Amino acid sequence: MAAGVLARELQQGLQGEVRVDEPLAPYTTWRIGGPADLLARPQSREDLEFCLEFSRQKSLPLHIMGNGSNLLIRDGGVRGMVIQTGAWGQVEVAEPVVRCSAGVLMARVLKAATAAGLGGLEFMAGIPATAGGAAVTNAGTPEGCLGDVIQGAAIITPAGGHLYLASRDIDFAYRYSSLRRAGTVIAVDLQLAATDPRAIRERVQANLARRRARQPLEWPNAGSVFKNPPGHYAGRLIEAAGASGWQVGPAQVATKHANFIINRGRARAADVLELINRIQEAVARSFGINLELEVEVWGE
Ligand SMILES: Cc1cc2nc3c(=O)[nH]c(=O)nc-3n(C[C@H](O)[C@H](O)[C@H](O)COP(=O)(O)OP(=O)(O)OC[C@H]3O[C@@H](n4cnc5c(N)ncnc54)[C@H](O)[C@@H]3O)c2cc1C
Repeated sequence: MAAGVLARELQQGLQGEVRVDEPLAPYTTWRIGGPADLLARPQSREDLEFCLEFSRQKSLPLHIMGNGSNLLIRDGGVRGMVIQTGAWGQVEVAEPVVRCSAGVLMARVLKAATAAGLGGLEFMAGIPATAGGAAVTNAGTPEGCLGDVIQGAAIITPAGGHLYLASRDIDFAYRYSSLRRAGTVIAVDLQLAATDPRAIRERVQANLARRRARQPLEWPNAGSVFKNPPGHYAGRLIEAAGASGWQVGPAQVATKHANFIINRGRARAADVLELINRIQEAVARSFGINLELEVEVWGE
C-alpha cells in the first residue's frame, strides 16, 4: 500500500502527527539521515499503542526512535515506519520512584527528580537521551548506568503482548540491556534515593562542566562512536593511531575527543561511514584491535 494511503489511515486514529517521506536528519543529534517512508510521533500511551498495533496489522518494518542521539541514519533513509517517541514526554514522581514515559528526555527527568530531592541519576547529566532510549542502551558513564536505578519497565512485545519487567528480569551490561529484544519500551520506573537537592545540583553542574571541557558539543554529534574495547579507551586508541582531525567532507574526527565524529556542515551518512572505516582500519593496523560501533546504523 502506498505510504500516503497508510498515513491517512494511521492519522485517523492518532492525536500525534504522521508524515510521509519525512527526512530524519532533524530528529537526530548528528543532523544526518534520509527520509522515513512513514514517521509517526505519538503524543500519549494510547497513541503509541495504536502505532504499534497499526505497524503489526500492516506488517510494516518498524523502527523505534527516541532522541536519535545514538543513531546514524543512512542517506537513502528508512523503509517502513519510524515511531519517534519524543512527543510523549511525561514524568511523574511517586517518591522514591520516578515514572517516565518512553519519550521523556532524561534532562527533564533529572530536573523533576532534583526538585523532589531524589538523587542517583546525576551521572545522566548531559546525555541527550529519552528514558526509553537510555533504558534500551543502558546509557551511563563510569559513575553509573541507567540499569543501576531501573525498578522496572513496561513493554509491548513484537506480538502485541503487554509486559512489566522488574529489574531482576532484565539483563544489563556495558551499553546493553535485554530490553532491546523484549520489544518496545512504553514506560520506565526509576528507583532513586532521598538526597539534598543542593548536593544533586552540584554533582549535575560538575558533570556538565566536565562534558563541556572534554567534548566537542558545539557541533552536531552522536557522542562516542565506538565502544571502549576491554581495558582501553577508544578515543585514546584513535588519537594514537593518528586519526584525530581526519575529515571526509564535512564529517571530522574531533580533535577535542577523538571518539566523537562531528558534523561541521552538511555531512552525509556516507561521509561518516567512510571515516568510520578509515578509523577502524587505522586502529586495527596500529594495535590489532577491532573497534566496535557504539552508534547504531539504520537504513539504506
Ligand atoms: C553529546 C552526547 C553525549 C553522549 N554521552 C553518552 C554517555 O555519556 N553515555 C552513554 O551511554 N551514551 C551517551 N550518548 C549516546 C546516547 O545519548 C545514548 O545512547 C542514549 O541512551 C540514546 O537515547 P535516545 O533516546 O537518543 O535513543 P535513540 O538514539 O533514538 O535510539 C537508540 C536505540 O534505542 C532504541 N529505542 C529508543 N527508544 C526505544 C523504546 N521506547 N523502546 C525500544 N527501543 C527504543 C532505538 O530503536 C535504538 O536501537 C551521548 C550522545 C551525545 C549526542
